[in-house]
Amino acid sequence: MVSIFLSHAFRRSLPLLPRSDPAMPAPQCATCHKARAALRRPRSGRALCGACFCAAFEAEVLHTVVAGRLLPSGAVVAVGASGGKDSTVLAHVLQVLAPRLGISLRLVAVDEGIGGYRDAALAAVRRQAARWELPLTVVAYADLFGGWTMDAVARSTAGSGRSRACCTFCGVLRRRALEEGARLVGATHIVTGHNADDMAETVLMNFLRGDAARLARGGGLGSPGEGGALPRCRPLQLASQKEVVLYAHFRRLDYFSEECVYAPEAFRGHARHLLKLLEAARPSAVLDLVHSAERLALAPAARPPAPGACSRCGALASRALCQACALLDGLNRGRPRLAIGKGRRGLDEAGPPRDGEPERAPAPDAVPAF
Ligand code: SF4
Ligand code: ZN
Repeated sequence: MVSIFLSHAFRRSLPLLPRSDPAMPAPQCATCHKARAALRRPRSGRALCGACFCAAFEAEVLHTVVAGRLLPSGAVVAVGASGGKDSTVLAHVLQVLAPRLGISLRLVAVDEGIGGYRDAALAAVRRQAARWELPLTVVAYADLFGGWTMDAVARSTAGSGRSRACCTFCGVLRRRALEEGARLVGATHIVTGHNADDMAETVLMNFLRGDAARLARGGGLGSPGEGGALPRCRPLQLASQKEVVLYAHFRRLDYFSEECVYAPEAFRGHARHLLKLLEAARPSAVLDLVHSAERLALAPAARPPAPGACSRCGALASRALCQACALLDGLNRGRPRLAIGKGRRGLDEAGPPRDGEPERAPAPDAVPAF
């Protein structure tokens, strides 16, 4: 379904104030003192009208970008556009802020080749590009990765249409595809729409897996572009999922809200469920987790070795092959599970580990949808 869509359950959880309840009229907006408040901000509890909330949300994203020095003036920014709420809000907010930041935007969408899902999501991205008059480039897994689509990967990994491993492959390949697409459009920077809830889920997953290397990399608002990769950042990383949805609601943004057919299999779903329980008991749990990852310091013995370059594509790699090349190698050899297995039967099959490198395979669901 393509629309401004909120499920009944999620709508009930949003801090919207009743529009016309004579018994309990909404308070005045705490900012403009003119309009009736339409929501209560989840963190501050301030009652605001829709216009003042959207202005505050945009100002906070601007502060995140400026204070973090994420996007310098003159940057050509590739927005990873999936058609979903996060990337839709990110593209819209950055378009509003672009004149003040002195940046120009390009939409880059990735077609993973997921039947019954991605076509409708891409249709939403095309409508956004047309409405906002932004250039759009679509890069497809099938073109970039020797004919492999996610549906083909799913068949190969499980012999059926679904597999828990799908998101492992997809996250690694999408990161590569977005990099290729951004280079294609001459971008100097990449932005993705991860919000605070996404980041907290990732931190939780890394803790649950004991993945010290990812915990070490997990903090901050992005990566500066090591090993020749383009700098990446997440301007919505401090915004809660509820506020992202509220912004889309009040700005009447058109986005695609269905879940990927492979998402129910993903380990991320367990972290999401756990996080909801934690948040119910402690409302600041999401941001606390994000900030914990920023402040985390690993003991010297737990620090991963400095990465080198992939012997096949030159990308940053902690083994002889980068994750994307290792996964594709496993697929092409008809042994996809070896590339995601644990321990010595894992990436070692795709290439020997670097000297002194600990045993480690790519983490499932390492990268949420942008
Ligand atoms: Fe890819 Fe996201 Fe679907 Fe997983 S849920 S297969 S990461 S699009
Ligand atoms: Zn490689």
